[in-house]
Amino acid sequence: MATTPETHGLWARTAPDAPPAPALSGGRSADVAIVGAGYAGLSAALHLAQAGASVVVLEAAEIGHGGAGRNVGLINGGMWVMPDEIGRLLGSHGERCLEILGQAPLLVRALVERHGIACELRKDGTLHLAAGEAGLAELRERHGQWTARGAPVALLSRAETARRTGTPAYEGALFDPRAGTLQPLAYARGLARAAIAAGALLHAGSPVVGAERQGAGWKLRTPSGSVAAGWVLAAGDAYSTGPWRIARDEQIHLPYFNFATAPLPAGIRETILPGGEGCWDTRQILSSFRMDAAGRLVFGSVGALRNTGRAVHRAWAVRSLRRLFPQLRDIRFESGWYGSIGMTADAVPRFHRFGPRAVGFSGYNGRGIAPGTAFGKVLAQLVLGEIGEAELPLPVTEPQAQPFRAVKEAYYEAGAQIAHLAAARF
Ligand SMILES: Cc1cc2nc3c(=O)[nH]c(=O)nc-3n(C[C@H](O)[C@H](O)[C@H](O)COP(=O)(O)OP(=O)(O)OC[C@H]3O[C@@H](n4cnc5c(N)ncnc54)[C@H](O)[C@@H]3O)c2cc1C
Repeated sequence: MATTPETHGLWARTAPDAPPAPALSGGRSADVAIVGAGYAGLSAALHLAQAGASVVVLEAAEIGHGGAGRNVGLINGGMWVMPDEIGRLLGSHGERCLEILGQAPLLVRALVERHGIACELRKDGTLHLAAGEAGLAELRERHGQWTARGAPVALLSRAETARRTGTPAYEGALFDPRAGTLQPLAYARGLARAAIAAGALLHAGSPVVGAERQGAGWKLRTPSGSVAAGWVLAAGDAYSTGPWRIARDEQIHLPYFNFATAPLPAGIRETILPGGEGCWDTRQILSSFRMDAAGRLVFGSVGALRNTGRAVHRAWAVRSLRRLFPQLRDIRFESGWYGSIGMTADAVPRFHRFGPRAVGFSGYNGRGIAPGTAFGKVLAQLVLGEIGEAELPLPVTEPQAQPFRAVKEAYYEAGAQIAHLAAARF
């Protein structure tokens, strides 16, 4: 299970190499064992190691192999659900959750800068784009709810949105200056390098296949070794396998693809996103676009690039880009890739206690870069005794497998193809 340009597209082509992380061999012990080297696991490892804890990270495949190496790279503040809805769903944890989510992009920026992580960080904000009047009404509502909490978001006019994006296709936009973009796999690899420098041990190619209680802690097994640890942090999220696969099974996998153009010629490049914001729209089958550091336009939407989906989504992407940016005459994609966004039933993440001293967050609903980093830090604080469960951003809940999960996932995959096939005819 290598992380290659075939599986992880542009990000595997342009990320700096991963730090060495040999497979676990034989027995080890540590204060904390972390399952999964995505943002949450790596951020927890970094913060724990910095505080002096001994940490072993076990990664089934390679660093950033899950969502961390496949996503769009939008560093968002907040979630899909409206701020008021988060408050309503999470009760006493709601405002704390919103506070952490709002600050999370700043935490990402601080970590990137403090550890010198080369990940194409842009601090130019994001634009949530209004598709039609209904989209604009949604953004007005979001704007009101965020500004009531002191967030520095701004609602942009149609003309200003057209100026910033380079297309007149949207009614307006919600600009979030706290947000930005980065190269997601490079960020994961950089976090891993920082965690190792702080003293954490990382083992890739080391899937956790078994877990049992041992004294007050746990013993985790991989095919070629074991780790005895006082605490276990389960950070496999939507890609979870092994003992805590339930974290995956309680989410619906929404496939999402991205295509990246070749670097655009300078004359065209400056007509699209001249300010460097990352964008996505309010449609139910949404689209997103952003530039990478070399001026490649990365364009994505819901769907899996496999079987018939490969051709359907590619054709739709070409037509959509031509409509949005007619100046892109000859559209050629250098890379195409896709991954699974884990969606919970109410679109809010989860915190689970899988047993004594075995916990984890999951279910970021397509918003994992900043929240995953922030929640990883929260896990470290919990293990270190700096906070208790009452101060967590989420309540403790029991994992519950989603009924008819496979059927729903097949429905979304087919539905995205039908929608893109139909849209391609116009
Ligand atoms: C296509 C796509 C687009 C997205 N776009 C965005 C975006 O623009 N902005 C944003 O904020 N978020 C986005 N997301 C979501 C974001 O990528 C995820 O929420 C984030 O990666 C979650 O981080 P994580 O550390 O919890 O899990 P992951 O990054 O998925 O990492 C989990 C790791 O755990 C490992 N693992 C699982 N089981 C085991 C086991 N038994 N033993 C050892 N290791 C194990 C996996 O191999 C994996 O490497 C997107 C996701 C996808 C797929």
